[in-house]
Amino acid sequence: MSAKIIDGKLISSEIREELKNEVAALKKEGITPGLGVILVGEDPASQSYVKAKEKACEDLDIYSDNRHIPAETTEKELLEIIDAMNNDPKINGILVQLPLPKHINADKVIMRISPDKDVDGFHPQSIGKMIMGKDTFLPCTPHGVVKLLNYSGVQIEGAHVVVVGRSNIVGKPVANLLLDKSKNGNATVTVCHSRTKNIAEMTRQADILIAAMGKPQFIKADMVKDGVVVIDVGVNRIEDSTRKRGYRLVGDVDFEAVKEKVSLITPVPGGVGPMTITMLMFNTVQSAKLRKDRG
Ligand code: NAP
Repeated sequence: MSAKIIDGKLISSEIREELKNEVAALKKEGITPGLGVILVGEDPASQSYVKAKEKACEDLDIYSDNRHIPAETTEKELLEIIDAMNNDPKINGILVQLPLPKHINADKVIMRISPDKDVDGFHPQSIGKMIMGKDTFLPCTPHGVVKLLNYSGVQIEGAHVVVVGRSNIVGKPVANLLLDKSKNGNATVTVCHSRTKNIAEMTRQADILIAAMGKPQFIKADMVKDGVVVIDVGVNRIEDSTRKRGYRLVGDVDFEAVKEKVSLITPVPGGVGPMTITMLMFNTVQSAKLRKDRG
């Protein structure tokens, strides 16, 4: 890998090695961390994310209770599964893969997960605590972004971070984490979205640019300054007839052109993606440890 590339797979595997040791130590005390994974329906992208999460559990020796249930499952049935997992001592974390079918209210589902088992960090209680800088489960992708910056030695304090995207699962939480008055925060943060005027004027001011918009290769070389650190959260499928599956994955950044100007950049795939799953495993192990401490 070039010195400019932030290798998410490598950083992720280092964190997973540490987690393996923590799981082994917990097992010696008779505790096996457990994750409940719920997938409703057949969405291909969701299926592949869930598969990767289940495999990560297997690799780390984390117990996983996998429920792949049909798209016609009612909201009531799904809430009952969550209630059972909330009460199951073998389960330390519950993951409901989003998006959910339209007839199910995702907010209601997220709120039903016990905050003690909210390893995705999407429950309003977790989000509230995160904003207040209190200990809580941090949402996995934003936490993964912070870890990538830390492992790469990027100075966050005092940096001007520009986040493009303001979703509840990526843009807003990552902006909050980097803004927080803490050792991984203290940045000056600008958040852009689809109504931002002159977006290139904003992105050109970034010392650290975080692209989380879901628009393939939107960030071009003339939208960044020399020496910027770029974290590309986007995952987009674009047609590619040279590939057997007919498509390839690209980020929100025009990687080949932008990499000439950056000091550091994450690739897609192999940047943020592996970190998201690793931070889910991290939260599950944390949850098992907290449960042990509570007795
Ligand atoms: P989302 O909910 O669709 O939000 C996209 C955000 O980007 C919105 O705030 C939207 O603005 C903004 N946006 C869209 N077009 C824009 C434009 N032309 N200029 C400026 N802002 C624009 O998406 P998300 O869930 O945050 O995900 C973003 C991307 O990250 C997707 O590609 C997703 O697949 C990827 N992702 C990756 C991981 C991972 O593990 N690697 C995890 C989660 C998400 P408005 O608010 O004004 O609509």
